[in-house]
Amino acid sequence: MSTGEASASTHTDESALPAVDVVGVRKTYAGTDALTGVDLQIRRGEFFTMLGPSGSGKTTLLRIIAGFVAADAGHIRLSGKDVTREPPYARNVNTVFQDYALFPHMSVHENVEYGLRVKRVPRAERRRRAQTALEMVRLPDHGERKPAQLSGGQRQRVALARAIANEPEVLLLDEPLGALDLKLRQEMQLELKRIQREVGITFVFVTHDQEEALTMSDRLAVMNRGRIEQLGSPHEVYEHPANEFVAGFIGVSNLLERDGSRFTIRPEKVVLGDPSAPVPAGFHAELGRISDVIYLGSVTRYVIALESGETLIALRQNQETLAASDPLAPEVSVRASWRPEQTFTINQSEA
Ligand code: ADP
Ligand code: MG
Repeated sequence: MSTGEASASTHTDESALPAVDVVGVRKTYAGTDALTGVDLQIRRGEFFTMLGPSGSGKTTLLRIIAGFVAADAGHIRLSGKDVTREPPYARNVNTVFQDYALFPHMSVHENVEYGLRVKRVPRAERRRRAQTALEMVRLPDHGERKPAQLSGGQRQRVALARAIANEPEVLLLDEPLGALDLKLRQEMQLELKRIQREVGITFVFVTHDQEEALTMSDRLAVMNRGRIEQLGSPHEVYEHPANEFVAGFIGVSNLLERDGSRFTIRPEKVVLGDPSAPVPAGFHAELGRISDVIYLGSVTRYVIALESGETLIALRQNQETLAASDPLAPEVSVRASWRPEQTFTINQSEA
């Protein structure tokens, strides 16, 4: 990697550069460390997610990339160009917020064309790009309506069309689906993925919902207390959590300690069986007692008190068993087993 100003060379091949390069970014608000030194490279054309609990610094980082907030230290480069001191309008990015702030007195077309009008794009070209964007979000016939004549999901699509019509290099989305109910939200997750594939714009998506992050992202950064705890594909982050925070935040994980070493094992990897039956080859087995059975429809969750004194959660798909005839009832002794290669040793997070 080149250092400093050298990377701004006009002879660099732009497509090889990261779409967004965050270098040593720090931000403190009146004693609160919102970002404690973030380095991050987002690739061109990827669906990238920043995932973390409330207050972990996601919005702050997004706003610094957009230029709405100035970092105390560090740099932002977009396709190799240092924009740290550029105002938002001089950066080729657009932001979609949760409260999508459409102009109520303007039609859908006028709303979608708004950014293009500000940039003095000629009227015919403006209308064409707005219409293409509305088709992209599947609202081709809604251009004449006012925002009040649309549902919440449709308004969010219009906000998305407005951003896409500007043809930014990077689209920043701050919990854009947060206000929608679950079913609509799941629909929009798939829609967003499709739109991102079709337009090929780099998406930087912010959410606190781990399932949303796992379904949508090419890669994700798990954030906590103003820093990135882990960066990787959904598969890497889920299967190989880097530390205790990530293991606990992404899905449910069992945390166990044997011989001074700590590891996680996912509930769906734990196999439950009769203590007297032979241990399957390649499995590590321990004895315990079922303390709780929670029937969840497609799966059943078992809480097991291990002989070690630890608690283990196991998850089993309800393929044919009826909950009523399940021999694994509370108080029953069980053998819990798992493949050692499916455990993951974790580093302890510094507290
Ligand atoms: P997230 O989007 O992950 O919920 P934020 O980036 O909004 O997190 O906030 C990170 C931290 O910075 C929080 O502790 C928050 O209270 C603080 N913070 C964010 N914006 C401001 C602000 N404008 N003034 C003071 N503190 C802020
Ligand atoms: Mg936020």
